[in-house]
Amino acid sequence: MKKTLTVLTVILLLAAPLFAGGQSETTAGTTAAVRPTLNEDGTFHLPIADTPTEFSIFLNFNNMPFDSSWKVWQRLAADTNISFKSVISQSNSNETEAYNLMLSSGNLADVIGYVSTADLESLGRDGGLIPLNDLIDEYAPNIKKMMDEDPKFRQYATSTDGNIYFIPKNQGLKAAEYWWIRNDWLEKLGLDAPTDIDEFEKVMYAFRNEDPNGNGLKDEVPLFDRAGWKMPEEYLYLFDSSTGFYTRNGVVEFEPLEENFRYGVRKLIQWYKDGIIDPEIFTRGNKSRDVLFSANLGGCTHDWVSTSEYNVKLASDVPGIELIAIAPPADQNGVVKERTERFPGVGWGISSACKDPVTVIKFFDYLFTEDGSALMNWGIEGEEWYTDENGNKKFYDSVLKGNQSVVGYLRSIGSLYRVGFNQDGGYELASMNKWGFAASDLYESHPEWFLEDQPPYSDGELDMKYQPEDESRYKRIMNNIKPYVEEKFQSWIIGTADFEADYDKFISELHARGIDEAIAINQKAYDYYMSAGK
Ligand code: CA
Repeated sequence: MKKTLTVLTVILLLAAPLFAGGQSETTAGTTAAVRPTLNEDGTFHLPIADTPTEFSIFLNFNNMPFDSSWKVWQRLAADTNISFKSVISQSNSNETEAYNLMLSSGNLADVIGYVSTADLESLGRDGGLIPLNDLIDEYAPNIKKMMDEDPKFRQYATSTDGNIYFIPKNQGLKAAEYWWIRNDWLEKLGLDAPTDIDEFEKVMYAFRNEDPNGNGLKDEVPLFDRAGWKMPEEYLYLFDSSTGFYTRNGVVEFEPLEENFRYGVRKLIQWYKDGIIDPEIFTRGNKSRDVLFSANLGGCTHDWVSTSEYNVKLASDVPGIELIAIAPPADQNGVVKERTERFPGVGWGISSACKDPVTVIKFFDYLFTEDGSALMNWGIEGEEWYTDENGNKKFYDSVLKGNQSVVGYLRSIGSLYRVGFNQDGGYELASMNKWGFAASDLYESHPEWFLEDQPPYSDGELDMKYQPEDESRYKRIMNNIKPYVEEKFQSWIIGTADFEADYDKFISELHARGIDEAIAINQKAYDYYMSAGK
């Protein structure tokens, strides 16, 4: 893998002048006498092209190569006169392989989307994607408006060289994961929903010791998480810590060096010993939620809104099961904080091979209009959705109660694809059950729980963008630190190493392995990221 990428980088570097040449030529050739995107009355001018125009496209989202026969994209083509032809065959599901093959062939599709932001930006810096900054200013008023109104959207789109190489997929809802707890167990034991970490701890011990599942066995698993295998420190969040980097008031910290870490690890060691935390937290894997709720053993987890569906799915197998979302418990310092949050994700860009970037950026912009956005989020009016008497969009029962999930169905018609658009919270709310809706309502109404000034934080890591020269240095340092921290953390929790005896040596080892330089590189990346939103 590493070797392939190195070879490709070399090929790319050699090919760079070719990419760059194509770019200046097309840009100069097409921006002279084109019609503005909007009509004089401010409405979007349709069709975008006077005659049907096709562009080639490279996109393969969740093993689904772009498919021009999806009905939503057929409708978009009818409305705009723009269509896209996939350069990936429908049978090819390996996105990385297909991407590398395209780059090494030197034949770039007109439009390119890819799973990795860093790879798209590096293609941009090598001249394979054109900078969109000027095109947005001139021809994409709806994208420009979203960038002006939503700093996170602009930050995510902006590369470390100041250029915008792709239009991200934006996120309407803020909350990602919620604290879910068995409300029926709380009621059975006569307990209130916990509001701070001390109450939370008491509830977890009651779940463990007072037989809420009523089978006479001490078999409950109060705390578990299906992401434990990839982010074993999920429960350090309760103590405002983690095994990685986090920012506070604009300052990047490596949390294992801080007091909250010490406090949290001591608690988790005790909880693990006392059976509060799933004994298989590090190994059970992503079936944990299915397994532990179905067996009526799991008490509390931190997870997505899909957790609310177990109330319906398990109604007959686990009579009375009721999972509700509670606010994140206030930590030992009295602060309520939710670390997980949604951020914009990768979308699509225009390659240097594209002969008419102006027309493409207009199409990109169309997906940010009300009509384009409805197609991408809800499907087709009269087929998937209608407007009710209060003016709200509603899905037909055929979508809500079909044999696929709502998301699965919408993806099968080409909506919710991984392109640049604004993922509208409304469609999600319209597809939630009452517990999911209540969870979303609770978290969305408390923006103060979420940290504002921060780059994307996902799977327990800050997703920073680095200058190329910093990136290799940073990776080298962290490759030597991250596995060390994870190994230490796990051995302390499961009790094969002694935290109190190890801690001082652990800290000096982190310094010896270069953590201070890694912090400095992250601080520089953070400062740049925040300035990109301005
Ligand atoms: Ca029991």
